[in-house]
Order: sequence, then structure tokens, then C-alpha cells
Amino acid sequence: MKIICVARNYAEHAKELKNEIPDAPVIFIKPDTAFKRKKQPFFLPDFSKDMHYETEIVLRICKNGKNISEAFANNYFDAVTTGIDFTARDLQQELKKKGWPWEIAKGFDGSACVGDFLPKSQFDDLKNLNFCMYKNKVLTQKGNTGDMIFPFEKIISYASKFFTLLKGDLIFTGTPVGVGPVTFNDHIECFVEDESVLEFDVK
Ligand code: MG
Repeated sequence: MKIICVARNYAEHAKELKNEIPDAPVIFIKPDTAFKRKKQPFFLPDFSKDMHYETEIVLRICKNGKNISEAFANNYFDAVTTGIDFTARDLQQELKKKGWPWEIAKGFDGSACVGDFLPKSQFDDLKNLNFCMYKNKVLTQKGNTGDMIFPFEKIISYASKFFTLLKGDLIFTGTPVGVGPVTFNDHIECFVEDESVLEFDVK
């Protein structure tokens, strides 16, 4: 299983990190060892002093595909959830400054937290899907898929030009504005619409 992620897919978030709005999806990959199950705690690694949450809608790929056209991309995922793309922001900024790949700041063990998947058929309009994250019971980040620069179909089509999609792969579709730090003992809970799909502690 591979985890494909999209960076800078919400204009307001790109601006908050002083990044340009991209003209094609900005893609990176997390290895399968980054996957963290729902209830497992997230352990703060010792190589970062500025660990950020990025709350994102995650798609579950349901069949294999290569060079998928946007018109058929919807057939390639069957479920959605909310996840956290944990990012060692201090490390990432250092790497970006040097022009180096940022994989170690994004793809480390446990950095891809994935909630319980909900069948996409339960939602009327995937282009108007609300999702959010509560930190210590306080609403901390929220988004709506209508604000994405590149919609699900575009991401699937574009990513599948370079990486054959396999059943079980996951796609993190980008974070809205409002990223920020987590600290020891924070409690995180994520929702798709009104449904709680992910809950864990930071340790
Ligand atoms: Mg992200």
C-alpha cells in the first residue's frame, strides 16, 4: 500500500506557508510504514520541535489503474475519511530552503493518521464535503472540499500518470488553511460532516 499526498491544494493554506498557487497538483508519497491506525497514539519524534497537524480528506482506492482519465476517476475510489498528514514543520522548512526533498519531514513512521472509511455513496455531493478537527475538544481546523484547487478526479488522473494506483492505496487530498502545532498529551478528534471517524492522543 502506498500513500499519495497532495500539497498546496487549498489556496488559503498555500498562502499561509507563503507558497505559490501551483498549476498542477504537487504530489509526494509516504511509505506504508507511515500509516497509523485510528486509536494508536501519535508519538512525537525526537527530530522535530514543531510537529504540525494537517487535517485532510483521504480517499481509498478500490481498483488498479494507470493513466486514468478524469471522466472515469470517480470509479477508482469507494470511500472517504479524514486523516492527519503530520509534518515536522521545522525540518521541512530547512529542507525546502536547501531545495532538498522533504520526505523525512512528511513520511516518517506514524505520520499518516487515517480514520474509519465511510462509503462515498453515503454523501450526496463530494464536492461539498465538510471536515474538521478538534484539538482538546476545541474546533481547530475545518475545510470544505469545494475549496480544493484540484478536485479528486484531477488528483487521481494526474497521480496515475506517474504511479500505477493499486487497490488499497490511499490519497491524502491536501489541507485547508489553519495548520498548527500539536504537543504532548493533546487529544485529536476528526470528523467527516457530523461523523467522528478518527480519535487519538499525542504522546
Ligand atoms: Mg498535507
